[in-house]
Amino acid sequence: MNKFTADRIFLSDGRIHNDKAIITDANGRILDVIDKSDAGEAVQHLHGLLVPGFINTHCHLELSHMKGKVNTGTGLIPFIESVVTTRGAGEEEIQNAIEQAEDEMLNSGIVAVGDISNQVDTFRVKSTSKLRYYTFIECFDFMQEEKGQETFDQYKAVFDQINLAEGSKISLVPHAPYSVSDTLYKLIHEANADDDTISIHNQETPPENELFFTGSGGFVDFYRSFGVELKGFTPTGRSSIHSALPHLNPKNRNLFVHNTLTTEEDIRATQNVLPNTFWATCANANLYIENRLPNYQNFLNTNAKLTIGTDSLTSNWQLNVLEEMKTIQKFQSYVPLETLLTWATINGAEALGFDDTLGSFVKGKTPGIVLIEGMSANSLKNTTSKRII
Ligand SMILES: [Zn+2]
Repeated sequence: MNKFTADRIFLSDGRIHNDKAIITDANGRILDVIDKSDAGEAVQHLHGLLVPGFINTHCHLELSHMKGKVNTGTGLIPFIESVVTTRGAGEEEIQNAIEQAEDEMLNSGIVAVGDISNQVDTFRVKSTSKLRYYTFIECFDFMQEEKGQETFDQYKAVFDQINLAEGSKISLVPHAPYSVSDTLYKLIHEANADDDTISIHNQETPPENELFFTGSGGFVDFYRSFGVELKGFTPTGRSSIHSALPHLNPKNRNLFVHNTLTTEEDIRATQNVLPNTFWATCANANLYIENRLPNYQNFLNTNAKLTIGTDSLTSNWQLNVLEEMKTIQKFQSYVPLETLLTWATINGAEALGFDDTLGSFVKGKTPGIVLIEGMSANSLKNTTSKRII
């Protein structure tokens, strides 16, 4: 049995306490949360803030070998072009980079990951990992109806090759509103169960909304550059997320990723149709690619459930949830610390359906205990995080 106290502990009521102690068994299972004064002997006192293990709800682990290879600040379309043309590499280089990236996540206190996969590259590492993974096999056919079935079959073959570790999950997901045909949406929908999580990239760049409002802009040129004409596409006159809503299942947990340009109206409309909605924010990746951030006030105003993602090492300087919280706090410091911690822990666990064991200090869970050191009042600026158990 272990007993931990700390200067402060973030508990499952969503608040930070300074008078509590956590009791765990040798494996880190929470046996109890009690008053510090009742903890008795053999208590380990830690300096800093204790929080449950972090949940990284958006990553592309298979792109880890491209760290530092793609320019910052170019915007999403040049970024995608760069990824497509430079993602090839030797098997050993890819596997080494995946292992290193995983270690980085483990060492900084991440306990679970929502990971996008287009290929099988990460499956070897995932089969024996200490992290709990939700693998999203991501499908796109550039909105070509005639390619929908063939594209689905190609990704279903990737899906079928995974050897799922205990506690991990997998689903087939659409890439983004601008890259999936109706046929492909339908096949994805039919392949998944109601209790799956569906992740989809959303409203990351102005040309995405422009395409749906007017039928013109950067994505039309982007598709044309590799010979795809958007023949059957009709602009809806509404923002891009509206086009995705009829294709998503209200019974699923739906996880929208990035949401840089998402408005309050978009959030309300989505949450009306899809009650089980989560919004993953990837602040550092947004700065890396587009040099802009979402307006988090829109999400606070609508009681939206935000989660935190690192995105990949192709579009970030590190895979570290604490660094994401620091960036949000630096640029939009009105977001309370307790709210940021909620996004980083229990909301992420719920989004992935991993809140049975992760996300909060609740009796019976094994959430991991992470120590944030170096805080000054509620500022994360000079902090580091490490796993205690
Ligand atoms: Zn992504």
